[in-house]
Amino acid sequence: MAKSLAPIVMKFGGTSLRDEDCRAHAVKHIKRYAESGERIVVVVSAMGRKGEPYATDTLIALLKDVGHNINPRELDLVMSVGETLSSAFFSHLLSHNGIPAISFNGRQSGILTDDNAGNAEILDIDPSRIVEALDNGSIAVVAGFQGIDTQKNITTLGRGGSDTTAVALAAALKAQECQIFTDVNGVYTTDPRVCSKARKLEVLTYEEMLEMSGLGSKVLQLRAVEFASKYNVPLR
Ligand code: ADP
Ligand code: ASP
Ligand code: MG
Repeated sequence: MAKSLAPIVMKFGGTSLRDEDCRAHAVKHIKRYAESGERIVVVVSAMGRKGEPYATDTLIALLKDVGHNINPRELDLVMSVGETLSSAFFSHLLSHNGIPAISFNGRQSGILTDDNAGNAEILDIDPSRIVEALDNGSIAVVAGFQGIDTQKNITTLGRGGSDTTAVALAAALKAQECQIFTDVNGVYTTDPRVCSKARKLEVLTYEEMLEMSGLGSKVLQLRAVEFASKYNVPLR
C-alpha cells in the first residue's frame, strides 16, 4: 500500500543531538522511517546543554560576558545560531548516511512571527519550500526555535521553543503525528530527574498536558501543547 503523503514530524532536543552516539541513534530512527517510505520533517534544537560549545546558553554567555544589557535583536540573532548550525550539521550527517536531506532556517521554512524578540509567537507558516523538498525525496531538517517578523528580523520563540516549531509545522503540514525526542523516555507524573517516584504516563489528554506545561514542566513548551490542542496534532 502506498504510504501517506502526510509527513511525520520528528523533533530532537539538544540532549538528543549532543554527541556522536546520540546523533547516531537519531539517524537510525529517521532511517527506519525513511526506508519505509515516509515523508519526514526533522526539527532540531541547538546541540547540547549549558556548558557545551553550541548550546543556546553558551551562545548567550558569549554576549553576557561582555555585558548584560543586550539589544534583544542581537540576542535573538545570536540565539538562533545554535539551531541554524544544528540543522545544517544534521542535514550533512543524514546525507552522509545515505539519507538525502536539506536544511532550512526559520525564514526558509516560512515561519512568520510577531516582533516580540525573545518570545515571539508564530503568526503564520508558509511551508512551501519544505513541501518541495519532501516532493523531491529529501528529508527537510528545520532549525527549531526561530522565525522572522514582518521587518525580516530573526526572532526566537521563547526558551524550549523548538517544541513549538515542531508542532506548528506538523499542524501546517497536516502531519500524521509529531514525535518529540528528549532525554527522558516519556512524560511522567512529575519530573523523573527530580523525583524517583515519578510514574510514566502512557497516554495524556491535551488538557492534562496543558496543565503540566502551564505549571512549568519544561518537557514540552506550553505553546506547543496549545498548538497541538488547537489543531488536533497527535503528539508522541
Ligand atoms: P529538550 O532539550 O529535549 O527540549 P528539555 O530539557 O526542554 O529537553 O525537557 C526535558 C526535561 O523535562 C527532562 O530532562 C526532565 O527533567 C524535564 N521534565 C519536567 N517535568 C517532566 C515530566 N513531567 N515528565 C518528563 N520530563 C519532565
Ligand atoms: N535551544 C533553545 C533553548 O535552549 C530552544 C529549544 O531547545 O527548544 O531554549
Ligand atoms: Mg525543551
